[in-house]
Amino acid sequence: MKILVPVKRVLDANVAVRVKSDGTGVELANLKMSMNPFDEIAVEEAVKLKEAGVASEIVAVSIGPAQAQDTLRTALAMGADTAVLVRTDETVEPLAVAKLLRAIIEQQNPDLVIMGKQAIDDDSNQTAQMLAALLGWPQATFASKVVIDGGKAIVTREVDGGLETLEMALPAVISTDLRLNTPRYASLPNVMKAKKKPLEEVDAASLGVSLAPTLKVVSTARPADRKPGSKVGSVAELVDKLKNEARVI
Ligand code: AMP
Repeated sequence: MKILVPVKRVLDANVAVRVKSDGTGVELANLKMSMNPFDEIAVEEAVKLKEAGVASEIVAVSIGPAQAQDTLRTALAMGADTAVLVRTDETVEPLAVAKLLRAIIEQQNPDLVIMGKQAIDDDSNQTAQMLAALLGWPQATFASKVVIDGGKAIVTREVDGGLETLEMALPAVISTDLRLNTPRYASLPNVMKAKKKPLEEVDAASLGVSLAPTLKVVSTARPADRKPGSKVGSVAELVDKLKNEARVI
């Protein structure tokens, strides 16, 4: 079984985000970029399936600038076998990402796509759903458990107030939720080995997909600063504040 894992290069989750002065987006220059955390979970799940003898090959795919090679090398160091960089310097919206991924999937013929439920930069939560629709494949989003049984995937999903378990025939698309697994750190020997693994580059323009944006960012704003908290001296004071200041009881 071959698994394809799309991985996006995003601003590192630990970097304090600063809004650009003109409000057109957030500052990215000279800041640490990393693999989207939900995609790390997707790579981990694919590697686990390979270690369990269920999968035989993992290909990681990233759409982005030349620097997205680093993200792909991380996926290779975690255990992916090969990587494809779909090169573009443009900002690519989820529908165009899904169409580019479909083009790569038609070349790679995977049995399963495991991807993040959401990229932490645009928070779109659209690409997996659009990709499954474009391919005409079944999809299970927000997976917290994945079992592959023959030609089927049995996926437990985190839904409001509980869990739902779905069964679907492969090929299929799965998107990962936070509790699916804990991604491994790539060991130094694996980082070294990853440098020798195959990484193919494809020009996004060669895949016949329009990258023209359909959305315009009107404004970007920081959340309002939180008011400082205060300490209360007694339960009576707390109850008084909740009643008369916060007016929540
Ligand atoms: P989104 O719909 O933008 O929130 O992204 C959901 C998932 O789609 C991400 O977790 C990635 O797995 C995949 N994805 C989105 N953008 C890209 C990209 N530029 N390159 C590779 N994968 C991507």
